Amino acid sequence: MIRTVSILGSTGSIGRQSLAAAERLGIRVTALAAQRNIGLLEEQIRKFRPAYAAVYDPAAARALRVAVADLDIEIGEGLEGLRRAAVYGCEAVVTAVSGSVGLRPTLDAIAAKERICLANKETLVCAGSIVMRAAREAGAQIVPVDSEHSAIFQCLEGRRDQLHKILLTGSGGPFRGWTREQTASVTPEQAVRHPNWHMGAKISVDSATMMNKGLEFIEAMHLFSVRPDDIQVVIHPQSVIHSMVELIDGTVLAQLAVPDMGLPIQYAMTWPERSPSPYERLDFWQMRDMTFEAPDPEKTPCLALAMDCARRGGVAPAVMSAANEAAVALFLAGKIGYNDIYDRVAAAVERAGEIPDPALDDILTADAEARRLVLEQ
Ligand code: NDP
Ligand code: MG
Repeated sequence: MIRTVSILGSTGSIGRQSLAAAERLGIRVTALAAQRNIGLLEEQIRKFRPAYAAVYDPAAARALRVAVADLDIEIGEGLEGLRRAAVYGCEAVVTAVSGSVGLRPTLDAIAAKERICLANKETLVCAGSIVMRAAREAGAQIVPVDSEHSAIFQCLEGRRDQLHKILLTGSGGPFRGWTREQTASVTPEQAVRHPNWHMGAKISVDSATMMNKGLEFIEAMHLFSVRPDDIQVVIHPQSVIHSMVELIDGTVLAQLAVPDMGLPIQYAMTWPERSPSPYERLDFWQMRDMTFEAPDPEKTPCLALAMDCARRGGVAPAVMSAANEAAVALFLAGKIGYNDIYDRVAAAVERAGEIPDPALDDILTADAEARRLVLEQ
């Protein structure tokens, strides 16, 4: 179990739950980072007393410096501040910012040989090969927070060499089975209301479009070094099984628990040990159906696109993920429709160049270009 932690994205859904876990487990918080929600960040600072906090937005950082002038704390800003928070006197970092802005701080933490409690899946989607190679070379452990990957990680402990296939489960989101005509008029309010999970706005929209499952498909490829053909997506609307692995002899192992992100967050912090937790327990006497189905590629075009990008490799996943971030932001701002998300992302991917083994700079350039393309469409 870790004793000190830095939390990037502490004001978000995962960040707040990570702070609650740290408090419960007696883990000291050394640094916090957010984008601009300094009201909540100040509360967190006063409660957890980190020595460092970073605010991405410079004006908000200035305001926070004034607000906490009575405390012994340094306030950084911009990407530099975020990167510093990632390595600020801690043995582990929870990467819970949303989007590919998490990439560089994650690489910094890896270089500092910290444990990465990885929630920020966009980091692995855009630069999985680079991140995993850096972790192997530095000997840094990446422990997934994403519930599916935590499940797979737990099922594979001690038996990685017996893996035949990953069964990546997903609820199917609030619009499971809807046609393109039916989703045309979906509003941001409808899209952020997920039946089983309460999450940040961006990942909620990704869950609705099933882009989230596509991002998770690529995340799993990198985390567990498997090929696209080794992962099968299974729709399981009840979200009780968080994912499964099929072993070489045909045995299937699954991880089950109530759908509460607090659990995988806690496990990433206590691994390889476990601690008691306050979460509800599964009651198999009360449980009704557990059902499974195949995703319909016609009705989940974002998932199909992500699986295609996974096979293409190179900068395609980075382009797709960055374009999706930009398109989802436009949708949430009421500037484009729900179906436009897929259309804009697909158009950006269509125009992406082929770079077989991209360097970090190639990825960052492709990322910026993809965002520009989405805004200009
Ligand atoms: P939220 O939108 O709730 O929170 C995002 C956090 O990141 C906020 O603290 C936000 O700060 C901060 N942030 C955003 N941009 C920056 C930036 N440029 N610099 C510094 N901080 C920034 O997201 P979630 O907690 O839902 O998700 C976070 C990550 O975890 C995502 O990658 C998501 O895919 C992943 N994840 C989330 C799950 C969930 O259940 N929520 C499940 C599995 C994975 P501010 O509040 O100031 O804007
Ligand atoms: Mg997930």
